[in-house]
Amino acid sequence: AAKYKVSVIGSGNWGSAIAKIVAENTASNPEAFDLNVRMWVFEEMIGDKKLTEIINTQHENVKYLPGIRLPSNLVAVPDLVECVTGSDILIFNVPHQFLPRICSQLKGKIPPSVRAVSCIKGVELSANGITLIASYITEQLGIYCGALSGANLAPEVAQEKFSETTIAYKVPDAADSITQKTIKTLFHRPYFHVSVVNDLAGVSLAGALKNIVALASGFVDGMGWGDNAKAAIIRRGLLEMTQFSREFFPESEASTFTEESCGVADVITSCAGGRNHKLGVAMIKTKKPVFELENELLKGQKAQGVTTAQEVNAFLTKRGKAAEYPLFTAVNDIIFNGLDSSALPEILEKVEKKV
Ligand code: NAD
Ligand code: 13P
Repeated sequence: AAKYKVSVIGSGNWGSAIAKIVAENTASNPEAFDLNVRMWVFEEMIGDKKLTEIINTQHENVKYLPGIRLPSNLVAVPDLVECVTGSDILIFNVPHQFLPRICSQLKGKIPPSVRAVSCIKGVELSANGITLIASYITEQLGIYCGALSGANLAPEVAQEKFSETTIAYKVPDAADSITQKTIKTLFHRPYFHVSVVNDLAGVSLAGALKNIVALASGFVDGMGWGDNAKAAIIRRGLLEMTQFSREFFPESEASTFTEESCGVADVITSCAGGRNHKLGVAMIKTKKPVFELENELLKGQKAQGVTTAQEVNAFLTKRGKAAEYPLFTAVNDIIFNGLDSSALPEILEKVEKKV
């Protein structure tokens, strides 16, 4: 039987945690997968050593996932094309702003039989509108791509603390030997439970849009407003996430937001912990410019909500719809247009006032 070769593109906080899971599963399912998993690393120097050398000798990503031992069958590769050549399954896991360059380097080099899963939480904005990251990968590389998203703070997953996740994967060709079961086997662990669904748009948009909501929850925590205020933000956030998905991607399903890990569960965890929440709190407390704070607090890691808030706002504004998404719009205005976060209740009341 065929043994699938797997590569992970990206090695940040989540990239490394997912690569660890996948390498554990190729080791425990030798009948299905080639043992070694290659992981593309955006090379950088740590002191006088290359990060790839450190990962391949110490089996630890000391910069982006410190303190976690990575499996020895996970091999760090600094050359992108070399990393993917000969692989049957590609897992994309980079901050979404870096994806276009990666795709342009891979364009024309991937056989159409290759299958992919994107673990990226974001959207791709162009003059034509918003494209799902997985669809963008399909457009650019000519391969089918599914999406993985869930309530998955990477440091907890890396420590093997229990969580659930959702994978949208529809077998694109009846002749495919890579099935939903193959994909589930590659990601499911005793501490990482996978639910496979068909709703690519719902799963992708839930993961992208919740980062805007997480920033807003950081703002209310930064103001010291307490759990009731945060619950109000979560309620409104989920509503706008579902509204956006149903309005612009009518093939998405509202139940994905209420029933799957990628929906309500990810909003809850991201509004409690996570980097977007942390950045939101610090923005209110320090009033420093957002990208300066991101560098200072996250040390090379990225908070995707900032760019997503901006991209979603540009998209909504162009369509004259910004006022119908008051929370998304307020988050963008707080970050980029000097709106005071204490205006949130008043802004939300305007749309909620029914009597
Ligand atoms: P991260 O925020 O840790 O990002 C840093 C990564 O970006 C590093 O690997 C770095 O080498 C790389 N990088 C820096 N400059 C680059 C460049 N010019 N080109 C290419 N790569 C460059 O990354 P992450 O946490 O792995 O996030 C990847 C995706 O996973 C994001 O969409 C994120 O929203 C999502 N996600 C993250 C978590 C989490 O808890 N960290 C959980 C679920 C999903
Ligand atoms: P942050 O990127 O805000 O850390 O969120 C991680 C995440 O997506 C948890 O599911």
